[in-house]
Amino acid sequence: MGTAHNLEQWDDFVGERYDPNRKTEDFRKFDDSAPAGVREFYRQNHANQTRDFAQEMRRKYGAKTKGEMGIWEACEFLNTLVDESDPDTDLSQIQHLMQTSEAIRRDGHPRWMILTGFLHDLGKALCLYGEPQWAVVGDTFPVGCAWSNKIVFPEFFAANPDAAVPEYQTRLGVYKEGCGLDNVDLSWGHDEYLYQVVKDYLPEEGQYMIRYHSFYPWHREGAYSYLMNEKDRRMLPWVQKFNPYDLYSKSAAPPNVAELKPYYEDLIADFFPGKIAW
Ligand code: FE
Ligand code: FE
Repeated sequence: MGTAHNLEQWDDFVGERYDPNRKTEDFRKFDDSAPAGVREFYRQNHANQTRDFAQEMRRKYGAKTKGEMGIWEACEFLNTLVDESDPDTDLSQIQHLMQTSEAIRRDGHPRWMILTGFLHDLGKALCLYGEPQWAVVGDTFPVGCAWSNKIVFPEFFAANPDAAVPEYQTRLGVYKEGCGLDNVDLSWGHDEYLYQVVKDYLPEEGQYMIRYHSFYPWHREGAYSYLMNEKDRRMLPWVQKFNPYDLYSKSAAPPNVAELKPYYEDLIADFFPGKIAW
Protein backbone atom coordinates (compact mmCIF):
# COMPACT_ATOMS: atom_id res chain seq x y z
CA MET A 1 0.00 0.00 0.00
CA GLY A 2 2.99 2.26 -0.10
CA THR A 3 2.60 3.86 -3.49
CA ALA A 4 0.29 6.59 -4.64
CA HIS A 5 -1.53 4.39 -7.09
CA ASN A 6 -2.58 1.91 -4.46
CA LEU A 7 -5.26 4.30 -3.34
CA GLU A 8 -7.72 1.83 -4.78
CA GLN A 9 -6.86 -0.74 -2.13
CA TRP A 10 -7.60 1.86 0.50
CA ASP A 11 -10.89 2.82 -1.12
CA ASP A 12 -11.86 -0.84 -1.19
CA PHE A 13 -11.27 -1.25 2.51
CA VAL A 14 -13.14 1.82 3.69
CA GLY A 15 -15.99 1.12 1.30
CA GLU A 16 -15.49 3.91 -1.20
CA ARG A 17 -15.74 1.50 -4.10
CA TYR A 18 -18.74 -0.28 -5.48
CA ASP A 19 -19.41 -3.68 -4.01
CA PRO A 20 -23.04 -4.83 -4.10
CA ASN A 21 -22.33 -7.63 -1.61
CA ARG A 22 -20.80 -5.44 1.06
CA LYS A 23 -22.71 -5.32 4.33
CA THR A 24 -22.86 -2.16 6.44
CA GLU A 25 -20.99 -3.84 9.31
CA ASP A 26 -18.13 -4.75 6.99
CA PHE A 27 -16.98 -1.16 6.47
CA ARG A 28 -14.12 0.30 8.47
CA LYS A 29 -13.31 -2.75 10.58
CA PHE A 30 -10.08 -1.64 12.23
CA ASP A 31 -9.36 -4.77 14.24
CA ASP A 32 -7.20 -7.87 13.86
CA SER A 33 -9.11 -8.71 10.70
CA ALA A 34 -7.94 -5.50 8.99
CA PRO A 35 -5.68 -6.27 6.02
CA ALA A 36 -1.93 -6.00 6.72
CA GLY A 37 -1.79 -3.11 4.24
CA VAL A 38 -4.23 -1.09 6.33
CA ARG A 39 -2.22 -1.62 9.53
CA GLU A 40 0.93 -0.65 7.65
CA PHE A 41 -0.81 2.43 6.31
CA TYR A 42 -1.70 3.60 9.83
CA ARG A 43 1.75 2.72 11.15
CA GLN A 44 3.21 5.19 8.64
CA ASN A 45 0.42 7.75 9.09
CA HIS A 46 0.68 7.86 12.88
CA ALA A 47 4.49 7.91 12.87
CA ASN A 48 4.76 10.78 10.39
CA GLN A 49 1.80 13.11 10.97
CA THR A 50 3.44 15.57 13.35
CA ARG A 51 2.30 19.09 14.11
CA ASP A 52 5.22 20.47 12.08
CA PHE A 53 4.33 18.30 9.12
CA ALA A 54 0.64 19.29 9.14
CA GLN A 55 1.51 22.98 9.35
CA GLU A 56 4.09 22.75 6.62
CA MET A 57 1.70 20.99 4.25
CA ARG A 58 -1.03 23.51 4.94
CA ARG A 59 1.36 26.35 4.08
CA LYS A 60 2.54 24.54 0.97
CA TYR A 61 -0.85 23.56 -0.48
CA GLY A 62 -2.82 26.42 1.05
CA ALA A 63 -0.89 28.70 -1.32
CA LYS A 64 -2.63 26.90 -4.22
CA THR A 65 0.24 27.01 -6.67
CA LYS A 66 -0.65 23.79 -8.52
CA GLY A 67 -2.41 25.59 -11.34
CA GLU A 68 -5.94 26.41 -12.46
CA MET A 69 -8.52 23.69 -13.11
CA GLY A 70 -12.27 23.55 -13.44
CA ILE A 71 -14.18 21.15 -11.17
CA TRP A 72 -15.02 18.68 -13.92
CA GLU A 73 -11.44 18.85 -15.12
CA ALA A 74 -10.31 18.02 -11.59
CA CYS A 75 -12.59 14.96 -11.60
CA GLU A 76 -11.02 13.71 -14.80
CA PHE A 77 -7.58 14.40 -13.38
CA LEU A 78 -8.40 12.38 -10.26
CA ASN A 79 -9.76 9.58 -12.39
CA THR A 80 -6.30 8.93 -13.81
CA LEU A 81 -5.44 7.51 -10.38
CA VAL A 82 -7.41 4.35 -10.95
CA ASP A 83 -6.64 3.82 -14.61
CA GLU A 84 -3.06 2.86 -13.95
CA SER A 85 -3.65 0.13 -11.40
CA ASP A 86 -6.72 -1.45 -12.92
CA PRO A 87 -7.79 -0.25 -16.36
CA ASP A 88 -10.98 -2.30 -16.49
CA THR A 89 -12.29 -1.60 -13.04
CA ASP A 90 -15.99 -0.77 -12.97
CA LEU A 91 -15.74 1.96 -10.38
CA SER A 92 -13.52 4.94 -10.86
CA GLN A 93 -12.96 7.85 -8.49
CA ILE A 94 -15.53 9.80 -10.50
CA GLN A 95 -18.08 7.07 -9.93
CA HIS A 96 -17.49 7.13 -6.19
CA LEU A 97 -18.13 10.85 -6.26
CA MET A 98 -21.28 10.43 -8.33
CA GLN A 99 -22.61 7.57 -6.24
CA THR A 100 -22.27 9.76 -3.20
CA SER A 101 -23.91 12.79 -4.83
CA GLU A 102 -26.66 10.78 -6.56
CA ALA A 103 -27.66 9.23 -3.23
CA ILE A 104 -27.84 12.73 -1.73
CA ARG A 105 -29.91 13.87 -4.71
CA ARG A 106 -32.32 10.92 -4.42
CA ASP A 107 -33.04 11.91 -0.82
CA GLY A 108 -34.10 15.39 -1.92
CA HIS A 109 -31.30 17.39 -0.28
CA PRO A 110 -30.40 20.91 -1.49
CA ARG A 111 -28.22 21.49 -4.53
CA TRP A 112 -25.23 22.69 -2.53
CA MET A 113 -25.19 19.36 -0.68
CA ILE A 114 -25.41 17.34 -3.90
CA LEU A 115 -22.46 19.33 -5.20
CA THR A 116 -20.57 18.87 -1.94
CA GLY A 117 -21.00 15.10 -2.27
CA PHE A 118 -19.76 15.26 -5.80
CA LEU A 119 -16.65 17.21 -4.81
CA HIS A 120 -15.76 15.77 -1.47
CA ASP A 121 -12.78 13.59 -2.45
CA LEU A 122 -11.15 15.78 -5.12
CA GLY A 123 -8.41 16.57 -2.60
CA LYS A 124 -7.05 13.09 -3.33
CA ALA A 125 -5.29 14.82 -6.23
CA LEU A 126 -2.52 15.10 -3.62
CA CYS A 127 -1.62 11.53 -4.63
CA LEU A 128 -1.06 12.72 -8.18
CA TYR A 129 1.24 15.47 -6.93
CA GLY A 130 3.38 12.65 -5.52
CA GLU A 131 2.39 12.81 -1.85
CA PRO A 132 2.57 9.48 -0.01
CA GLN A 133 -0.72 7.83 0.79
CA TRP A 134 -0.34 8.41 4.55
CA ALA A 135 -0.44 12.16 3.78
CA VAL A 136 -3.62 11.93 1.69
CA VAL A 137 -6.19 9.50 3.09
CA GLY A 138 -7.09 7.84 6.39
CA ASP A 139 -8.86 9.22 9.45
CA THR A 140 -7.68 12.63 10.61
CA PHE A 141 -6.98 13.81 14.17
CA PRO A 142 -5.75 16.98 15.93
CA VAL A 143 -2.00 17.52 16.21
CA GLY A 144 -0.44 19.58 19.01
CA CYS A 145 -2.47 17.94 21.80
CA ALA A 146 -2.83 14.45 23.26
CA TRP A 147 -4.04 11.76 20.85
CA SER A 148 -7.44 10.34 21.77
CA ASN A 149 -7.65 6.59 22.25
CA LYS A 150 -10.69 6.78 19.96
CA ILE A 151 -8.31 7.16 17.02
CA VAL A 152 -7.77 3.87 15.16
CA PHE A 153 -4.54 2.01 16.00
CA PRO A 154 -3.49 4.47 18.77
CA GLU A 155 -0.50 2.25 19.61
CA PHE A 156 1.27 3.48 16.47
CA PHE A 157 1.61 7.00 17.88
CA ALA A 158 4.52 5.80 20.04
CA ALA A 159 6.76 6.27 16.99
CA ASN A 160 5.59 9.86 16.36
CA PRO A 161 8.24 12.49 17.26
CA ASP A 162 5.48 14.60 18.90
CA ALA A 163 5.24 11.90 21.58
CA ALA A 164 8.48 13.37 22.97
CA VAL A 165 7.10 16.94 23.17
CA PRO A 166 5.49 17.29 26.63
CA GLU A 167 3.59 20.44 25.56
CA TYR A 168 1.72 18.37 22.97
CA GLN A 169 0.85 15.55 25.32
CA THR A 170 -1.73 17.20 27.54
CA ARG A 171 -5.49 17.16 26.99
CA LEU A 172 -5.47 20.68 25.51
CA GLY A 173 -1.87 20.83 24.31
CA VAL A 174 -1.30 24.11 22.47
CA TYR A 175 -5.05 24.87 22.33
CA LYS A 176 -7.57 26.58 24.57
CA GLU A 177 -10.76 25.00 25.87
CA GLY A 178 -13.55 25.61 23.30
CA CYS A 179 -11.21 27.42 20.88
CA GLY A 180 -13.06 26.04 17.85
CA LEU A 181 -11.87 23.55 15.24
CA ASP A 182 -10.93 26.35 12.88
CA ASN A 183 -8.08 27.08 15.29
CA VAL A 184 -6.99 23.44 15.54
CA ASP A 185 -4.48 21.83 13.19
CA LEU A 186 -5.58 18.40 12.02
CA SER A 187 -3.30 15.77 10.52
CA TRP A 188 -2.81 16.59 6.84
CA GLY A 189 -4.90 14.97 4.14
CA HIS A 190 -7.36 15.37 1.27
CA ASP A 191 -10.05 16.98 3.47
CA GLU A 192 -8.08 20.07 4.44
CA TYR A 193 -6.57 20.49 1.00
CA LEU A 194 -9.93 20.51 -0.76
CA TYR A 195 -11.41 22.78 1.90
CA GLN A 196 -8.69 25.32 1.16
CA VAL A 197 -9.47 25.07 -2.57
CA VAL A 198 -13.30 25.32 -2.49
CA LYS A 199 -14.13 27.21 0.74
CA ASP A 200 -15.03 30.47 -1.01
CA TYR A 201 -17.67 28.82 -3.19
CA LEU A 202 -19.76 26.64 -0.86
CA PRO A 203 -22.05 27.35 2.10
CA GLU A 204 -20.56 26.77 5.53
CA GLU A 205 -22.29 23.42 6.00
CA GLY A 206 -20.68 22.12 2.80
CA GLN A 207 -17.31 23.45 3.85
CA TYR A 208 -17.58 21.50 7.11
CA MET A 209 -18.63 18.30 5.34
CA ILE A 210 -15.52 18.52 3.18
CA ARG A 211 -13.08 19.67 5.81
CA TYR A 212 -14.02 17.13 8.49
CA HIS A 213 -15.40 14.10 6.66
CA SER A 214 -12.37 11.98 7.67
CA PHE A 215 -12.34 13.27 11.26
CA TYR A 216 -14.01 10.09 12.56
CA PRO A 217 -12.69 10.46 16.13
CA TRP A 218 -14.80 13.64 16.31
CA HIS A 219 -17.90 13.08 14.19
CA ARG A 220 -18.35 9.39 15.00
CA GLU A 221 -16.60 8.79 18.33
CA GLY A 222 -17.37 12.08 20.07
CA ALA A 223 -13.74 12.76 21.00
CA TYR A 224 -12.25 16.26 21.30
CA SER A 225 -15.56 17.90 22.20
CA TYR A 226 -13.61 20.26 24.47
CA LEU A 227 -12.07 21.90 21.40
CA MET A 228 -15.45 22.70 19.87
CA ASN A 229 -17.06 26.10 19.84
CA GLU A 230 -20.68 27.05 19.23
CA LYS A 231 -20.31 26.93 15.46
CA ASP A 232 -18.70 23.47 15.51
CA ARG A 233 -21.60 22.20 17.59
CA ARG A 234 -24.03 23.64 15.06
CA MET A 235 -22.16 22.09 12.13
CA LEU A 236 -21.47 18.62 13.58
CA PRO A 237 -24.93 17.24 12.63
CA TRP A 238 -24.28 18.23 9.01
CA VAL A 239 -20.99 16.36 8.93
CA GLN A 240 -22.78 13.36 10.44
CA LYS A 241 -25.59 13.66 7.93
CA PHE A 242 -23.07 13.50 5.12
CA ASN A 243 -21.16 10.44 6.34
CA PRO A 244 -23.57 7.63 5.35
CA TYR A 245 -23.63 8.95 1.79
CA ASP A 246 -19.86 8.67 1.64
CA LEU A 247 -19.73 5.18 3.15
CA TYR A 248 -22.91 3.30 2.44
CA SER A 249 -24.15 4.66 -0.85
CA LYS A 250 -22.33 1.96 -2.81
CA SER A 251 -25.01 -0.68 -3.10
CA ALA A 252 -26.89 0.78 -6.03
CA ALA A 253 -25.78 0.17 -9.61
CA PRO A 254 -22.81 2.34 -10.62
CA PRO A 255 -23.89 5.67 -12.11
CA ASN A 256 -23.69 6.37 -15.82
CA VAL A 257 -21.10 9.13 -15.86
CA ALA A 258 -21.64 10.22 -19.47
CA GLU A 259 -25.40 10.45 -19.02
CA LEU A 260 -25.17 12.47 -15.82
CA LYS A 261 -22.42 14.81 -16.96
CA PRO A 262 -24.72 17.63 -18.24
CA TYR A 263 -26.57 17.75 -14.90
CA TYR A 264 -23.30 18.07 -13.02
CA GLU A 265 -21.88 20.65 -15.38
CA ASP A 266 -24.94 22.84 -14.70
CA LEU A 267 -24.67 22.26 -10.97
CA ILE A 268 -20.96 23.14 -10.95
CA ALA A 269 -21.60 26.29 -13.00
CA ASP A 270 -24.15 27.48 -10.41
CA PHE A 271 -21.47 27.66 -7.72
CA PHE A 272 -18.06 27.81 -9.39
CA PRO A 273 -16.30 29.90 -12.02
CA GLY A 274 -14.86 28.02 -15.02
CA LYS A 275 -11.51 27.53 -13.33
CA ILE A 276 -10.27 27.79 -9.77
CA ALA A 277 -6.79 27.72 -8.22
CA TRP A 278 -5.51 24.37 -6.90
FE1 FE B 1 -12.63 11.16 1.56
FE1 FE C 1 -15.30 9.55 -0.13
